[in-house]
Amino acid sequence: MDKKQLEASVAKRRTFAIISHPDAGKTTITEQLLLFGGVVRQAGTVKARKTGNFAKSDWMEIEKKRGISVTSSVMQFDYAGKRINILDTPGHEDFSEDTYRTLMAVDSAVMVIDSAKGIEPQTKKLFKVCKMRGIPIFTFFNKLDRDGREPLDLCAELEEVLGIESYAMNWPIGMGKGLKGLYDIYNNRIELHQREDKGQEYLQLDDNGEIIGDHPLKEDSLYQQVLDEVELVKEAGSQFDEEKIAQGELTPVFFGSALTNFGVKTFLDAYLQFAPAPSPHKMEDGKEVAPNNEEFSGFIFKIQANMNPRHRDRIAFVRICSGEFERGMDVTLERTGKALRLSNSTQFMADTRETLETAVAGDIIGLYDTGNFQIGDTIYAGKEARKFEKLPQFTPELFVRVTAKNVMKQKSFHKGINQLVQEGAIQLYRSYSTNDYILGAVGQLQFEVFKFRMQNEYNSEVEMAPMGHKIARWIAPDQLDEKMSSSRNLLVKDRQDQPLFLFENEFAERWFQDKYPDVKLTAKL
Ligand code: GDP
Repeated sequence: MDKKQLEASVAKRRTFAIISHPDAGKTTITEQLLLFGGVVRQAGTVKARKTGNFAKSDWMEIEKKRGISVTSSVMQFDYAGKRINILDTPGHEDFSEDTYRTLMAVDSAVMVIDSAKGIEPQTKKLFKVCKMRGIPIFTFFNKLDRDGREPLDLCAELEEVLGIESYAMNWPIGMGKGLKGLYDIYNNRIELHQREDKGQEYLQLDDNGEIIGDHPLKEDSLYQQVLDEVELVKEAGSQFDEEKIAQGELTPVFFGSALTNFGVKTFLDAYLQFAPAPSPHKMEDGKEVAPNNEEFSGFIFKIQANMNPRHRDRIAFVRICSGEFERGMDVTLERTGKALRLSNSTQFMADTRETLETAVAGDIIGLYDTGNFQIGDTIYAGKEARKFEKLPQFTPELFVRVTAKNVMKQKSFHKGINQLVQEGAIQLYRSYSTNDYILGAVGQLQFEVFKFRMQNEYNSEVEMAPMGHKIARWIAPDQLDEKMSSSRNLLVKDRQDQPLFLFENEFAERWFQDKYPDVKLTAKL
């Protein structure tokens, strides 16, 4: 691929995540998007994953049991001349760390909100991360086929709760059983709501935004009310501003129903107009790498073992930041400086994984990993060394002591722990005094998934003794004296052999600081 071709390819990429509170309809809308992309032929394919019909991988059982999505995956398809990469993010809050890292790998985000519920806690958290990154955010108010809150009220909430300006791309005409259609401000037309099998019908609007010709809707008081509301948001609301959208300061707002596939295509078409192509990625030294830079580079934002339990494989997810990936290419792994040949790669379609030949900046690829990679690793081709910005890390707050139930099965126990820890959802520590295995996580659910996967994938039954909440604080090795360990703290080392204390509570930490005022404790490594 020459530079021109690379540029053209990169310009076609749209890589985004859908963020939402559980049950807002993320899975349903994803599925509709895949339908438009021709990736799935029948509605219900992605959905069925949750109920188990589709579940090829046994460990998704846990999702089924709890009805939550604990894994995130990547789906790729072509639509309207664009190559779309959707990164799925688990909705449950215990998996926020994984989700945060996934958000580092996208160029924009779609926020799906249940229009009866408005902004829920998980949406708010995820929104903050997107805002921090300054990526464009598009809003889809879902479930219009049910009675929800007033559209004006929902838009006001965006500004009040999230502090983002909004611009209505369309406006509902009625809702629930009384849903008549969408007043499509952006396309200057009305999208009529009718039975799905009747296809889509539009009414064109004139320059004043009035229906051209005769239509019963014209006499409808609901329609008159919508005209008034649209007038109001046009005059009192924010102006459409592409610059602000690009900075994540203004969110284009769409209404629709993912379930009945109403307004989803309208959303997708407009979204693709304004969602950004891959942008430059920041490196640790503050410089940026442009996607059209011909030297390949990327970073690993996720590692997942046993996506397919029959193969016992492990996959490192790479966001390509620049250049072109070719199967079999040689790269340098920045952390170790070692050369690697990337011969075993995969891309992600909705339900299959195919061997991947090439990919460009913006794409997500999967590399079969035999233990080379860690989350946050940079890989690059060419002579010029690169290192991308650190991915967000969260200090674990909950801890358990973990042992193998069956002492004869130490081998599978160690193998399982090491692999699952490498995925990054859970942290492993060893106590100084007894060398016990201690696991740390942000939420309780991570321990349960760990236990489940140890049993199912490694045939290793584990015992977990809860240690409760602790405050993890690292200490510089040259300041450490093992005598500092007392009954109020536990001295452990992390996977990089760096020492840290697990304090019982804030009081214990303060007591320690009073006793050793010269010792510097840090919350993160
Ligand atoms: P997720 O947890 O965000 O992935 O949400 P799902 O897509 O699984 O949807 C949660 C529930 O809401 C399911 O029962 C869906 O059928 C339902 N749902 C999703 N979108 C709509 C919609 O537009 N209208 C209605 N009435 N229900 C919906």
